[in-house]
Amino acid sequence: MLLTTIATVYTLVAHTNRQISDLIAEQTRQLCTSLALAHERAVSNDRADQLSQISKELIKSRNVLYVGFFDAEGRRIALASRDADIDLKGVSAVQASTSQLMQIRRQRSALFGEYVETVAPVLTSAASAGSQLAGYVAVGVSQDGEAAMLRSITYVVVVIAALAVALAIFTGILLVHRILMPIRQLVMATHKIIGGDLDTRVDIERADAIGQLARAFNEMVEWVKQQQRELADANVKLSEANRDLESRIAQRTAQLETANSRLSAEINDKEEFLRAISHDLGAPLRNIDGMATVLLMKYRDKLDADIIHRLQRIKSNVEMGSSMITELLELSRIKTRRQKMERVDLDVLVRDLAGMFDEDLRSRKISLLIETKLPEVECERLRMRQVFQNLIDNAIKYMHDQPDRPREIRIGCIPRLTEAEFYVRDTGIGIHEEELDKVFLVFRRGRNSHAVGAAGKGIGLASVKSIIETYNGRIWVESELGAGSTFRFTINGRYVRSSSVGMTAPGATPGNAEASQTIGDRRAA
Ligand code: ADP
Repeated sequence: MLLTTIATVYTLVAHTNRQISDLIAEQTRQLCTSLALAHERAVSNDRADQLSQISKELIKSRNVLYVGFFDAEGRRIALASRDADIDLKGVSAVQASTSQLMQIRRQRSALFGEYVETVAPVLTSAASAGSQLAGYVAVGVSQDGEAAMLRSITYVVVVIAALAVALAIFTGILLVHRILMPIRQLVMATHKIIGGDLDTRVDIERADAIGQLARAFNEMVEWVKQQQRELADANVKLSEANRDLESRIAQRTAQLETANSRLSAEINDKEEFLRAISHDLGAPLRNIDGMATVLLMKYRDKLDADIIHRLQRIKSNVEMGSSMITELLELSRIKTRRQKMERVDLDVLVRDLAGMFDEDLRSRKISLLIETKLPEVECERLRMRQVFQNLIDNAIKYMHDQPDRPREIRIGCIPRLTEAEFYVRDTGIGIHEEELDKVFLVFRRGRNSHAVGAAGKGIGLASVKSIIETYNGRIWVESELGAGSTFRFTINGRYVRSSSVGMTAPGATPGNAEASQTIGDRRAA
């Protein structure tokens, strides 16, 4: 602003100065021309007096310095000047070169300082001889008055400009103080708050927008502080709750550990008990069997047929009892004594079993079909074999003997979202509806088993159920008396190798059953 003001004032003064200078020069020229006319018209016998009178009158005006009238040879006719030492070089210069006529010359006088002068020719206009030079008029005009006026104007302008600059500086300071300083204070307070000092407040009490901003800022900080307090309280409560939870978990874990060790102890006791039973019951049974054998061998000739028959029944019952004890012991170990887990291809396993049952199947004219590709499963090989073996064995055992009805066993797998479902379906004698749940209980044999006189101990399905449960699976049976039974069981998906699960399209023949969809695929779908 300062620079702009100085430049403006300087330009204004220079321009005004130039204008005044040009104006004075023009005024001088016009005055000179008018005086040349007066010179020409002056009456010749009284000319000197007249011109002297004119010049004297003229120098009374404010800025005319001198007025001189000269004849054609440059001799003075009349001269009036305020400065006695005025230098009239202009007339001689004009005489030397006519091009200097009516030109403005800038001169300097010791008394009046700078002034301008011009010389005009005086021409007669006699009709016979044309225009003739009759003399010269020289006029000097001072610029001093105007320069003084210009100086005072400049002074006024400079004072106004200085005032304007002062006002601008004052306004700037006010602006900084009223707006920028509070904003700076707000910014600094914000930094402190970011640094974690929530006791920071801005001290700006004003009614304007900045005051409102400051109040809103202080309220916001107060709110944040309040929130932080509440959060800290909540954290304290949370950590108390956590501690409480941890101690409860520790308590529960301790309880569980106690229960677990008690359970393990009980299992060990149970195993010990079973071992003792099998041993303590097995030994006398073996003894009874040995006695019966000895009696039969030594006294067969002396004993009558009825005693021999009874001894033979004793032997077979003892054998039955021993094998029941062994199987019961085995059943109790299914969940407690886990075998090595390995990847087993059930397709291979079941086809191998089918080969093993080949003789029975052929003699009873039963066809066994593996309807779908069976998956690979991470399991205990022998136990999984036991599952399929028991189910196929039962399906053969409880097959009807009617020649006009089909005799079939169908095996397959249906992949589901999180598990694989297997089935063993037969066209056998079926199970009574009220016994469907009970056939999985140990020693429970169905009425149908007595009806067909099938041998068995009622342990097979209980073992199958126990094995399936170790794979987080379920087992159930759907059956219609006289039409057949379908045993279904599931194995949790995490034991099934998803890419190996196959599914047969409806109507596909058993032989061409290829994997067409996997558990993984279905999940993605
Ligand atoms: P077991 O065959 O030795 O009697 P299981 O535990 O294998 O013992 O079977 C229990 C009962 O379930 C059998 O006695 C029988 O009544 C019934 N059962 C099992 N499988 C079939 C089947 N495929 N068809 C009809 N009944 C069956």
